[in-house]
Amino acid sequence: MHPELAADLDQLPALLEETRRAAAAFLASLDERPVVPRADPPARTPLAERGGGLRAALAEFGERWEPGLSAGAGPRYFGFVTGGATPAALAGDWLTAAADQNSNSSLDGAGQQLERETVGWLRELFGLSAAHAGTFVSGATMSNTVGLAIARQWLGERLGVDVAEDGAAALGRVRVLSGSAHSSVAKALSVLGLGRGALTRVPVLPGREAVDVAALERMLAEHDGPCVLVANAGTVNTVDFDDLRALADLRDRHGCWLHVDAAFGAFAALVPEHAALVAGLDRADSICVDLHKWLNVPYDSAVQFTRRPDLQAEVFRNAAAYLGPLGEHPDLVHLTPENSHRLRALAAWFTLRAYGRAGHREIVERCVAGARALGEAVAGTPGLRLLAPVRLNVVCFTLAEDPTADRLAALAEAVADEAFLTPTHYAGLPALRAAFSNWRTTDADVRRTAAALARAVRGPEA
Ligand SMILES: *Cc1c(COP(=O)(O)O)cnc(C)c1O
Repeated sequence: MHPELAADLDQLPALLEETRRAAAAFLASLDERPVVPRADPPARTPLAERGGGLRAALAEFGERWEPGLSAGAGPRYFGFVTGGATPAALAGDWLTAAADQNSNSSLDGAGQQLERETVGWLRELFGLSAAHAGTFVSGATMSNTVGLAIARQWLGERLGVDVAEDGAAALGRVRVLSGSAHSSVAKALSVLGLGRGALTRVPVLPGREAVDVAALERMLAEHDGPCVLVANAGTVNTVDFDDLRALADLRDRHGCWLHVDAAFGAFAALVPEHAALVAGLDRADSICVDLHKWLNVPYDSAVQFTRRPDLQAEVFRNAAAYLGPLGEHPDLVHLTPENSHRLRALAAWFTLRAYGRAGHREIVERCVAGARALGEAVAGTPGLRLLAPVRLNVVCFTLAEDPTADRLAALAEAVADEAFLTPTHYAGLPALRAAFSNWRTTDADVRRTAAALARAVRGPEA
């Protein structure tokens, strides 16, 4: 063994303790470090011939790279939709790396059974029936991709072709209908060989991002042949929800596949006051839910649910002599794009085991309350204008006067030490959005963010 490896193996417990201290110090800095540091990155260094072991790496990371990392795990990182990591989720993720399982096969240990238990808990959390099978993937983009891959195989089943065998071209032109599809849906269609052009926009209701059901019904009546509906349960700008029950009815009448992108909107199911937003979710043929957002597990984690795991196995089966037969419950290696994968379920298992339904409901409730409070503060701040009602956990707003993209970028920059907001376009205007999904965010963070925005729009003279 190389002497540096041997020395580290010798001192492993002490080195892990030092690493733990570095992690704790980083987490302790979240409240005060710039939310997104803007200093230039350090100059690159060449690969070392002799590295000096873990201690040397830890010191250099702390000096050169750690100061440039964002407080993405912290309470005022409101960009995109970015959850943090609960203490239990973080512990689960550490242990995932420590155990370093490749739990994709029943020839291995209990890993895939743990994943199945976790999928069962998630099903209960989101009010799904046992008819939905679930698998872990790396994020909502991959979850949408897998869901649409199953939809593609289903289209083949309806048209009498086996896409997994004969390729997507055998389908001819495919139509994928959606009102306000997330950008990852177009990416998935590109990857799947259906083409970004397959995405056909369905009109939305006036002043909303939700599908106009009557318009969709007319489109379906004119279209012959099976197609795919992508419903949105939580759009990123205004957290709008399609009427999932109405879409499921149309699916039943017109013979479509219903995929629901509920990346973070599925969490509405945890709170009785908001659960109606996702009523009908269980009727979907496939569902995407992100876990590294509102479940607050570390990147990267999402789940893909489907009622047709048989078609999923047709797409992703990886037959090889050494992997064992498919059987009735195929090993995970036959269900996702990856063959090998980490025991990704463990972080979700830990946080669900540690805090249960009630703990996770409280996170959702507090995020929604925070978004509403910031929305009220924005509406009451001269110079700012709320662009949509705060339906759940996103505040979408702009400048009351002359809202150019440059001026909004300058506003985001002016508050960046205190809070991270990301730009968007909504209702024909450049805008900013603040998305709440971190378990650490409190009233104090909302006040601090509102105050920073108010100072920034008042300008330096005040
Ligand atoms: C975040 C998000 C995605 C993509 O998620 P990743 O985890 O970044 O792959 C897809 N759809 C919706 C609605 C999202 O909010």
